[in-house]
Amino acid sequence: MPQLFHIKTFGCQMNKHDSDSISQILMNEGYQQSKSIDDADIVLVNTCAVRVKAEEKALSVLGRLAPLKQKKRNLIAGVIGCVAQEQGTDLLKRFPHLDLILGPRNIHHIDKFIAQIKKKRERISSLDLSGQITSFPKYNGYLKGRVTCFLKIMEGCDNFCSYCIVPFVRGRETSLSAQKLIDEANRLVRQGIKEITLIGQNVNSYNVRNGSVPTFPRLLKELDSISGLKRIRFTTSHPKDLSDELIGLFGELTTLCPHIHLPVQSGSDAILGFMNRGYTRDTYLSLIERLRKVRPDIAITTDLIVGFPGEREQDFQDSLRLIEDVKFDNIFSFKYSERSGTRAVHLPGKIGDTEKQRRLFLLQQRQKEITLGKNNSLEGTIQEVLVEGPGKRGNHQLSGRTAGNKVVNFFSPTDLRGELLRLNIIQGCQNSLLGEIVGAGDQKTS
Ligand code: SF4
Repeated sequence: MPQLFHIKTFGCQMNKHDSDSISQILMNEGYQQSKSIDDADIVLVNTCAVRVKAEEKALSVLGRLAPLKQKKRNLIAGVIGCVAQEQGTDLLKRFPHLDLILGPRNIHHIDKFIAQIKKKRERISSLDLSGQITSFPKYNGYLKGRVTCFLKIMEGCDNFCSYCIVPFVRGRETSLSAQKLIDEANRLVRQGIKEITLIGQNVNSYNVRNGSVPTFPRLLKELDSISGLKRIRFTTSHPKDLSDELIGLFGELTTLCPHIHLPVQSGSDAILGFMNRGYTRDTYLSLIERLRKVRPDIAITTDLIVGFPGEREQDFQDSLRLIEDVKFDNIFSFKYSERSGTRAVHLPGKIGDTEKQRRLFLLQQRQKEITLGKNNSLEGTIQEVLVEGPGKRGNHQLSGRTAGNKVVNFFSPTDLRGELLRLNIIQGCQNSLLGEIVGAGDQKTS
């Protein structure tokens, strides 16, 4: 009987990608995925430390593994990712049932660690922040049936935004070799992948720290020429590193989807200064203007924090005004969450939770109206959609995304997964669109 593993993943696309890589490595060793924690011989919790709530959730799952381990003495229980890096070996003391603590830079050796635990029944922690990704797991069918995937192009961050724990738990910025990325993208396309999202904490500073070539725009050009690759996306970009060359590519590369996630975090210059973001409201607005000049239909999404220390009512109103001025397609908004070890912990002017909640509610309410208006405005337009798989409703419902990254649901009697189709948008809803097939898509991206 093959041994089973289960990974519970919290957090961002970097963590999801890490969990995918671990799954591939373990499957290469003969392990199989189990749907539930209860059936697994290896349980791994991939954690996020960006906000207190995400960390608490992960710790609570770790606590729930104790009775499982009592029932199954040979169970291997591990914690990986950002909380593992942040709390380190303290976790071994707090959770005596844990066997493995693995920081994000050490996941590529998971097979060796598991083998060591099995052989010697010793507890292992590996938290070296200088580790590099030098190869990708061998293909073993893990991505079968998928048409989109992430490809990590860099790890870590050098920006040290005053509220952010990422540089401490994912280490300093390091970029993967361009040739390896191009080879990997080619391999993914050969396995049926049609759309690749390049991911990293700050993709547009790819190769900048080590002064290497190609830079990010050049890498995009190289990937654009891969035969069979229909779409490229990337996330996340830092506004201070968004060059005119990169903006220009939205009007040039046929595979580059017209969508950018460009986190602004606040609409107030004073707060942006406290956050150490390295740009002003006006510089941000001028980037939006340039993006829309090159590609008028570009979809723009962002991240916003409310209740940052020192945020006065007028600063919050500046954020509200910003979403009004830009009319983002969507925003991901959060209450400021204090993270120990970051500079913002020492800033004066902490905001109470009730006030943070009020601000968040107002911001989200207004954005909901803007998003719905944007989705409504697509009614009657023809959008090119990459079909990703069955929709939530089943019964011949399929689901895909527009080039602007909006989910479209539609009905078809046949499975059209992986096809690029032209769809007439018949309804714009709050979180998705409803469409009907008009014909086959005929270009790389619309
Ligand atoms: S750019 Fe700022 S917010 Fe983003 S990961 Fe780096 S430090 Fe954190």
